[in-house]
Amino acid sequence: MGPDLKTVRTGMLAGIRQVAQGALHIVFPPRCIACNGAVSTDFGLCGPCWRDTPFITGLACDGCGAPLPGDDTGPVLCDDCLAQDRPWARGRAALAYRDNGRKLVLALKHGDRLDLVRPMGAWLHRAAAPLLEPGMLVAPIPLHRLRLLKRRYNQSALLSRELARLAGFDHCADLFERPRATPSQDGKTRDERFENLRGAVQVTPRRRASVAGRHVLIVDDVMTSGATLSAATQAALAAGAAKVSVLALARVAKDA
Ligand SMILES: [Zn+2]
Ligand SMILES: [Zn+2]
Repeated sequence: MGPDLKTVRTGMLAGIRQVAQGALHIVFPPRCIACNGAVSTDFGLCGPCWRDTPFITGLACDGCGAPLPGDDTGPVLCDDCLAQDRPWARGRAALAYRDNGRKLVLALKHGDRLDLVRPMGAWLHRAAAPLLEPGMLVAPIPLHRLRLLKRRYNQSALLSRELARLAGFDHCADLFERPRATPSQDGKTRDERFENLRGAVQVTPRRRASVAGRHVLIVDDVMTSGATLSAATQAALAAGAAKVSVLALARVAKDA
């Protein structure tokens, strides 16, 4: 018996895709996403850039994902998370916010580098592994609508959508909203940052029902003090979320 039609068709499609991709690589050879140097596969970093990108792969704080020295296996917390009660259950981050970590985050945020969403989604997926539980609802930290108009896209929403796609979870891009524009966090102390963000993130009224009883995974591009993630976590819990975990692409760590 020969192969059925579906197998033949799938095989043909895969073949066509391979040829198309081959042709694409002749015209547009794959480039390193950080330095634009030649690499062998799409959406990758070249060797030197990979080494200069501070992925958080070893021991990490269970509250915020900051890299920690040592090789403990149990859950550990960094000094920040010990000093500052986190309203969420657990947190992780893919990168430290320095060197290439910082450069790539800024390229996505201000440089229209939407090609970065795909590799960054894969990095987030790997970093989030300890947090993932079946049936999670993934949602991004929102931008205020005026900032969204100016920037045209919410980089955190692009990241959370890609992560949800990879992990096979529901995604809700407008689960949260920012009813008011908040002054910049730059130059503020930790306490001022938390005060500035108090109540600044809310569950969108028409989404309240979808939060109830869910384990919500909140995604942001950068975590600094954690004030924004705290505001969003408190909003989700107030709306009836069963549990909240947080995930940042990059963690600003004091010593990293
Ligand atoms: Zn490179
Ligand atoms: Zn921490």
